[in-house]
Amino acid sequence: MVSHGIVCVSKGFSMVEFKSKIIEIKDYGAADHNPVRVFKVKLLVTVPPFNYVPGQFAMLGSEKVRMTANSALYKWASFSISSSPTQEGFLEFAINDGTPEGVSHCVFLSNVGEELFVKGPFGKFTLNESAFDRFLLIATGTGVAPIMSMARFLLDSKNAKPIHVFYGFRFEDLFLYKEELEGFSRAHENFSFTPIVSRPSPQWKGLKGHVQSALKETHFEAKEKTGVYICGRPPIVEEIVAALKTLGFPEQNIFFEKW
Ligand SMILES: Cc1cc2nc3c(=O)[nH]c(=O)nc-3n(C[C@H](O)[C@H](O)[C@H](O)COP(=O)(O)OP(=O)(O)OC[C@H]3O[C@@H](n4cnc5c(N)ncnc54)[C@H](O)[C@@H]3O)c2cc1C
Repeated sequence: MVSHGIVCVSKGFSMVEFKSKIIEIKDYGAADHNPVRVFKVKLLVTVPPFNYVPGQFAMLGSEKVRMTANSALYKWASFSISSSPTQEGFLEFAINDGTPEGVSHCVFLSNVGEELFVKGPFGKFTLNESAFDRFLLIATGTGVAPIMSMARFLLDSKNAKPIHVFYGFRFEDLFLYKEELEGFSRAHENFSFTPIVSRPSPQWKGLKGHVQSALKETHFEAKEKTGVYICGRPPIVEEIVAALKTLGFPEQNIFFEKW
Protein backbone atom coordinates (compact mmCIF):
# COMPACT_ATOMS: atom_id res chain seq x y z
CA MET A 1 0.00 0.00 0.00
CA VAL A 2 1.41 3.41 -0.92
CA SER A 3 -0.17 6.49 0.66
CA HIS A 4 2.21 9.34 1.38
CA GLY A 5 1.76 11.22 4.63
CA ILE A 6 -1.03 8.85 5.56
CA VAL A 7 -0.83 6.26 8.29
CA CYS A 8 -0.89 2.79 6.72
CA VAL A 9 -2.10 0.06 9.05
CA SER A 10 -1.14 -3.46 8.21
CA LYS A 11 -0.95 -6.59 10.34
CA GLY A 12 -1.61 -4.68 13.56
CA PHE A 13 1.04 -1.94 13.36
CA SER A 14 0.87 1.48 11.87
CA MET A 15 3.52 3.05 9.69
CA VAL A 16 3.70 6.37 7.95
CA GLU A 17 5.19 6.93 4.53
CA PHE A 18 6.35 10.52 4.08
CA LYS A 19 6.98 12.29 0.81
CA SER A 20 10.22 14.29 0.96
CA LYS A 21 12.35 16.53 -1.22
CA ILE A 22 16.16 16.61 -1.44
CA ILE A 23 17.27 20.08 -0.32
CA GLU A 24 21.07 19.72 -0.15
CA ILE A 25 23.77 17.27 -1.28
CA LYS A 26 27.42 17.15 -0.22
CA ASP A 27 29.90 14.94 -2.08
CA TYR A 28 32.87 13.09 -0.63
CA GLY A 29 35.50 10.91 -2.30
CA ALA A 30 36.86 10.53 -5.80
CA ALA A 31 35.25 8.17 -8.34
CA ASP A 32 37.82 5.44 -7.56
CA HIS A 33 37.37 5.82 -3.75
CA ASN A 34 33.77 4.50 -3.41
CA PRO A 35 32.33 8.00 -3.07
CA VAL A 36 29.70 8.93 -0.52
CA ARG A 37 26.95 11.53 -0.85
CA VAL A 38 25.33 13.20 2.14
CA PHE A 39 21.71 14.15 1.51
CA LYS A 40 19.50 16.52 3.45
CA VAL A 41 15.82 15.86 2.82
CA LYS A 42 12.84 17.92 3.90
CA LEU A 43 9.64 16.05 4.70
CA LEU A 44 6.77 17.51 2.68
CA VAL A 45 4.25 16.22 5.21
CA THR A 46 4.62 17.23 8.85
CA VAL A 47 1.57 15.56 10.36
CA PRO A 48 2.06 13.17 12.03
CA PRO A 49 5.54 14.32 13.11
CA PHE A 50 8.55 12.12 12.28
CA ASN A 51 9.79 11.60 15.85
CA TYR A 52 13.13 9.82 16.00
CA VAL A 53 15.92 9.38 18.49
CA PRO A 54 19.67 9.42 17.74
CA GLY A 55 20.89 6.13 16.25
CA GLN A 56 17.66 5.18 14.47
CA PHE A 57 17.28 4.58 10.74
CA ALA A 58 14.67 5.27 8.09
CA MET A 59 13.75 3.40 4.93
CA LEU A 60 13.99 5.31 1.68
CA GLY A 61 12.14 4.56 -1.53
CA SER A 62 11.73 6.19 -4.90
CA GLU A 63 9.06 6.27 -7.57
CA LYS A 64 11.78 4.97 -9.91
CA VAL A 65 12.73 1.78 -8.01
CA ARG A 66 10.25 -1.11 -7.89
CA MET A 67 10.70 -4.68 -6.66
CA THR A 68 11.95 -6.79 -9.56
CA ALA A 69 9.48 -9.56 -8.63
CA ASN A 70 6.48 -7.18 -8.39
CA SER A 71 6.62 -3.77 -10.03
CA ALA A 72 3.54 -2.62 -8.10
CA LEU A 73 5.69 -2.47 -4.95
CA TYR A 74 8.40 0.05 -4.20
CA LYS A 75 11.77 -1.30 -3.14
CA TRP A 76 12.75 0.16 0.23
CA ALA A 77 16.25 0.30 1.71
CA SER A 78 17.50 1.18 5.20
CA PHE A 79 19.68 4.20 5.94
CA SER A 80 20.80 5.50 9.32
CA ILE A 81 19.71 9.04 10.10
CA SER A 82 22.78 11.25 10.60
CA SER A 83 20.90 14.39 11.63
CA SER A 84 19.87 14.89 15.24
CA PRO A 85 16.29 15.39 16.44
CA THR A 86 17.60 18.78 17.69
CA GLN A 87 18.09 19.85 14.05
CA GLU A 88 14.61 20.70 12.88
CA GLY A 89 13.31 20.86 9.32
CA PHE A 90 15.28 18.09 7.66
CA LEU A 91 16.63 14.54 7.89
CA GLU A 92 20.14 13.71 6.77
CA PHE A 93 21.60 10.50 5.31
CA ALA A 94 25.13 9.46 4.23
CA ILE A 95 24.81 7.06 1.31
CA ASN A 96 27.17 4.71 -0.53
CA ASP A 97 26.43 3.77 -4.11
CA GLY A 98 24.83 0.32 -4.68
CA THR A 99 23.82 -2.05 -7.48
CA PRO A 100 22.34 -0.36 -10.59
CA GLU A 101 18.83 -1.63 -9.80
CA GLY A 102 18.76 -0.70 -6.09
CA VAL A 103 17.59 2.25 -4.00
CA SER A 104 21.09 3.46 -2.99
CA HIS A 105 22.11 3.91 -6.63
CA CYS A 106 18.88 5.72 -7.47
CA VAL A 107 19.27 8.09 -4.51
CA PHE A 108 22.99 8.44 -5.30
CA LEU A 109 22.15 9.75 -8.79
CA SER A 110 19.45 12.12 -7.52
CA ASN A 111 19.64 15.91 -7.59
CA VAL A 112 18.43 18.67 -5.30
CA GLY A 113 14.68 19.12 -5.78
CA GLU A 114 13.94 15.45 -6.50
CA GLU A 115 11.47 13.57 -4.32
CA LEU A 116 12.02 10.48 -2.18
CA PHE A 117 9.74 8.50 0.08
CA VAL A 118 10.70 8.09 3.74
CA LYS A 119 9.35 5.50 6.16
CA GLY A 120 10.18 5.16 9.84
CA PRO A 121 11.78 5.69 12.21
CA PHE A 122 13.10 2.20 13.00
CA GLY A 123 15.78 0.60 15.13
CA LYS A 124 16.97 -0.07 18.64
CA PHE A 125 20.54 1.19 18.29
CA THR A 126 19.67 4.22 20.36
CA LEU A 127 21.59 6.42 22.74
CA ASN A 128 20.91 6.13 26.47
CA GLU A 129 22.25 9.49 27.65
CA SER A 130 21.42 9.10 31.31
CA ALA A 131 22.89 5.60 31.84
CA PHE A 132 26.57 6.58 31.47
CA ASP A 133 29.08 9.19 32.69
CA ARG A 134 30.98 9.33 29.39
CA PHE A 135 30.57 8.22 25.78
CA LEU A 136 32.85 6.49 23.33
CA LEU A 137 31.40 6.70 19.81
CA ILE A 138 33.12 4.56 17.17
CA ALA A 139 32.45 4.53 13.42
CA THR A 140 33.91 3.30 10.17
CA GLY A 141 32.87 4.57 6.73
CA THR A 142 29.23 5.61 6.41
CA GLY A 143 28.73 4.01 9.84
CA VAL A 144 29.49 7.52 11.03
CA ALA A 145 25.85 8.45 10.25
CA PRO A 146 24.18 7.30 13.51
CA ILE A 147 27.32 8.31 15.44
CA MET A 148 26.99 11.90 14.11
CA SER A 149 23.35 11.91 15.14
CA MET A 150 24.38 10.90 18.67
CA ALA A 151 27.25 13.43 18.89
CA ARG A 152 25.11 16.27 17.54
CA PHE A 153 22.32 15.40 19.95
CA LEU A 154 24.56 15.19 23.03
CA LEU A 155 26.24 18.52 22.24
CA ASP A 156 23.04 20.31 21.22
CA SER A 157 21.44 19.11 24.48
CA LYS A 158 24.35 20.71 26.43
CA ASN A 159 25.35 17.32 27.80
CA ALA A 160 28.65 18.03 29.59
CA LYS A 161 29.80 14.40 29.86
CA PRO A 162 33.03 13.53 28.02
CA ILE A 163 32.43 12.35 24.44
CA HIS A 164 35.16 10.86 22.27
CA VAL A 165 34.66 9.80 18.65
CA PHE A 166 36.95 7.33 16.86
CA TYR A 167 36.32 7.50 13.13
CA GLY A 168 38.03 5.24 10.59
CA PHE A 169 37.86 5.70 6.82
CA ARG A 170 39.93 4.56 3.86
CA PHE A 171 41.00 7.79 2.16
CA GLU A 172 41.25 11.38 3.44
CA ASP A 173 38.63 12.54 0.95
CA LEU A 174 36.14 10.20 2.70
CA PHE A 175 36.52 12.10 6.00
CA LEU A 176 32.81 12.87 6.29
CA TYR A 177 31.82 15.76 8.58
CA LYS A 178 35.49 16.83 9.00
CA GLU A 179 34.74 20.54 9.48
CA GLU A 180 31.85 19.89 11.84
CA LEU A 181 33.86 17.46 14.01
CA GLU A 182 36.78 19.91 14.14
CA GLY A 183 34.32 22.67 15.07
CA PHE A 184 32.87 20.51 17.86
CA SER A 185 36.28 19.94 19.42
CA ARG A 186 37.06 23.68 19.28
CA ALA A 187 33.68 24.68 20.73
CA HIS A 188 33.13 21.98 23.37
CA GLU A 189 35.67 21.10 26.07
CA ASN A 190 34.00 17.73 26.61
CA PHE A 191 34.32 16.68 22.95
CA SER A 192 37.33 15.14 21.23
CA PHE A 193 37.81 12.87 18.24
CA THR A 194 40.41 10.68 16.56
CA PRO A 195 40.29 10.20 12.77
CA ILE A 196 42.15 7.13 11.45
CA VAL A 197 42.94 6.57 7.75
CA SER A 198 43.70 3.09 6.43
CA ARG A 199 45.12 4.24 3.06
CA PRO A 200 46.66 7.63 3.86
CA SER A 201 48.42 9.98 1.47
CA PRO A 202 51.98 11.05 2.37
CA GLN A 203 50.48 14.35 3.59
CA TRP A 204 48.27 12.73 6.28
CA LYS A 205 49.58 13.68 9.73
CA GLY A 206 47.07 11.77 11.85
CA LEU A 207 46.74 8.12 12.85
CA LYS A 208 47.10 5.47 10.16
CA GLY A 209 45.65 1.96 10.07
CA HIS A 210 42.50 0.59 11.63
CA VAL A 211 40.27 1.73 14.48
CA GLN A 212 40.85 -1.57 16.33
CA SER A 213 44.61 -0.92 16.54
CA ALA A 214 44.13 2.70 17.58
CA LEU A 215 41.82 1.60 20.40
CA LYS A 216 44.44 -0.84 21.69
CA GLU A 217 47.00 1.98 21.89
CA THR A 218 44.72 4.38 23.77
CA HIS A 219 44.43 4.81 27.53
CA PHE A 220 40.76 4.91 28.63
CA GLU A 221 39.43 6.08 31.99
CA ALA A 222 36.30 4.91 33.82
CA LYS A 223 35.53 2.08 31.38
CA GLU A 224 32.75 0.74 33.61
CA LYS A 225 30.93 4.09 33.34
CA THR A 226 31.41 4.52 29.59
CA GLY A 227 28.64 3.90 27.07
CA VAL A 228 30.19 2.60 23.84
CA TYR A 229 28.28 2.91 20.55
CA ILE A 230 29.75 1.41 17.36
CA CYS A 231 28.59 1.37 13.74
CA GLY A 232 30.25 -0.02 10.60
CA ARG A 233 30.69 -3.12 8.46
CA PRO A 234 29.99 -6.44 10.29
CA PRO A 235 33.54 -7.91 10.44
CA ILE A 236 35.03 -4.59 11.56
CA VAL A 237 32.40 -4.05 14.25
CA GLU A 238 33.05 -7.58 15.52
CA GLU A 239 36.79 -6.91 15.74
CA ILE A 240 36.18 -3.60 17.51
CA VAL A 241 33.87 -5.25 20.05
CA ALA A 242 36.47 -7.97 20.69
CA ALA A 243 39.20 -5.33 21.15
CA LEU A 244 37.04 -3.35 23.59
CA LYS A 245 36.26 -6.43 25.66
CA THR A 246 39.98 -7.25 25.85
CA LEU A 247 40.59 -3.68 27.00
CA GLY A 248 38.13 -4.22 29.87
CA PHE A 249 34.97 -2.43 28.68
CA PRO A 250 31.97 -4.27 30.17
CA GLU A 251 30.01 -6.09 27.46
CA GLN A 252 26.69 -4.71 28.69
CA ASN A 253 27.91 -1.14 27.99
CA ILE A 254 28.72 -1.90 24.33
CA PHE A 255 26.03 -1.28 21.69
CA PHE A 256 26.44 -1.66 17.96
CA GLU A 257 24.77 -1.59 14.56
CA LYS A 258 26.45 -3.44 11.70
CA TRP A 259 25.51 -3.50 8.01
C1 LIG B 1 19.97 -0.46 9.95
C2 LIG B 1 20.71 -0.17 8.66
C3 LIG B 1 21.24 1.09 8.44
C4 LIG B 1 21.92 1.33 7.25
N1 LIG B 1 22.42 2.58 7.04
C5 LIG B 1 23.09 2.85 5.89
C6 LIG B 1 23.64 4.15 5.66
O1 LIG B 1 23.53 5.07 6.51
N2 LIG B 1 24.27 4.37 4.49
C7 LIG B 1 24.43 3.39 3.53
O2 LIG B 1 25.01 3.65 2.47
N3 LIG B 1 23.92 2.14 3.73
C8 LIG B 1 23.26 1.86 4.88
N4 LIG B 1 22.76 0.61 5.08
C9 LIG B 1 22.99 -0.42 4.06
C10 LIG B 1 21.92 -0.39 2.99
O3 LIG B 1 20.64 -0.52 3.55
C11 LIG B 1 22.17 -1.57 2.06
O4 LIG B 1 23.36 -1.34 1.35
C12 LIG B 1 21.03 -1.83 1.11
O5 LIG B 1 21.30 -3.02 0.43
C13 LIG B 1 20.83 -0.75 0.11
O6 LIG B 1 19.67 -1.07 -0.66
P1 LIG B 1 19.66 -1.06 -2.25
O7 LIG B 1 18.24 -1.10 -2.71
O8 LIG B 1 20.53 0.01 -2.76
O9 LIG B 1 20.25 -2.47 -2.55
P2 LIG B 1 21.51 -2.85 -3.39
O10 LIG B 1 22.72 -2.57 -2.55
O11 LIG B 1 21.42 -2.27 -4.73
O12 LIG B 1 21.30 -4.42 -3.45
C14 LIG B 1 21.13 -5.20 -2.29
C15 LIG B 1 20.44 -6.50 -2.67
O13 LIG B 1 19.09 -6.23 -3.12
C16 LIG B 1 18.91 -6.75 -4.44
N5 LIG B 1 18.09 -5.80 -5.19
C17 LIG B 1 18.51 -4.58 -5.65
N6 LIG B 1 17.51 -3.97 -6.29
C18 LIG B 1 16.44 -4.78 -6.25
C19 LIG B 1 15.10 -4.68 -6.74
N7 LIG B 1 14.68 -3.62 -7.42
N8 LIG B 1 14.25 -5.71 -6.46
C20 LIG B 1 14.69 -6.79 -5.80
N9 LIG B 1 15.93 -6.95 -5.32
C21 LIG B 1 16.80 -5.97 -5.54
C22 LIG B 1 20.31 -6.86 -5.02
O14 LIG B 1 20.37 -7.85 -6.04
C23 LIG B 1 21.13 -7.23 -3.82
O15 LIG B 1 21.05 -8.60 -3.55
C24 LIG B 1 22.08 0.32 6.27
C25 LIG B 1 21.52 -0.95 6.51
C26 LIG B 1 20.87 -1.20 7.68
C27 LIG B 1 20.30 -2.56 7.92
